[in-house]
Amino acid sequence: MLRELAETHTDAHCELDFTTPYELAVATILSAQTTDVRVNEVTPKLFARYRAAADYASADRAELEELIHSTGFYRNKATSLIGLGRAVVEKHDGVLPHTLDELVALPGIGRKTANVILGNAFDIPGITVDTHFGRLVRRWGWTEEEDPVKVEHAVGALVPKRDWTIVSHQVIFHGRRVCHSRKPACGACTLAADCPSYGTGPTDPAQAAALVKGPSRARLLRLAGAPDDTPPDAAPADDPRALDAGTDPVAAAADVP
Ligand code: SF4
Repeated sequence: MLRELAETHTDAHCELDFTTPYELAVATILSAQTTDVRVNEVTPKLFARYRAAADYASADRAELEELIHSTGFYRNKATSLIGLGRAVVEKHDGVLPHTLDELVALPGIGRKTANVILGNAFDIPGITVDTHFGRLVRRWGWTEEEDPVKVEHAVGALVPKRDWTIVSHQVIFHGRRVCHSRKPACGACTLAADCPSYGTGPTDPAQAAALVKGPSRARLLRLAGAPDDTPPDAAPADDPRALDAGTDPVAAAADVP
């Protein structure tokens, strides 16, 4: 399944835009309960205004809230960003730490956010258990655990450590584009032959093909041998409901600041 997953999602990557570890920390905090696309709309202006931890530490709350308003939960997120800036300045001389223990001790940074930062900004392998990841690995029988930390440990024991970050992206891409929460596209899924949950969604290829989302849709359908009746310039975007923290209140609560 790992090989098939890698061949299916060759474009898997962190979809948040950033140039420094601190920017990724900010973007990941903002991504709770919204889409990466929405965060990427907000961050260019934000990163131009606030360049380092000290800038967030001394931010004018009203101005910061205005800049991040469209990402939702903007008051909580502003509190987290200001608190993070202060803690990084006070405890780490303004430099974001790069260990899980130090990261999760910072305001606004839960385990999921910390693993995103470690894996994508510091190249330290991390498994990111968001709502997509948990749903898919349970559907695949990789674990029966519901608790995100237990899921992380269970999958960590199955996947080589060097691959933790990229496999996280591949699983999340599959969850956003093919294996949806309510109606997975089983009849247009490259993992169908190995998936114990095949049949959870429509198995008819045409019906299933209509459920596949994202910019790589045509390629995904071709790989799965499913019909593509989409006009060439009408490729649908990722499912707008496919939020990072998802609609699963338990998973969402894990990292909402
Ligand atoms: S076969 Fe269905 S349940 Fe299994 S991974 Fe594919 S879409 Fe998900």
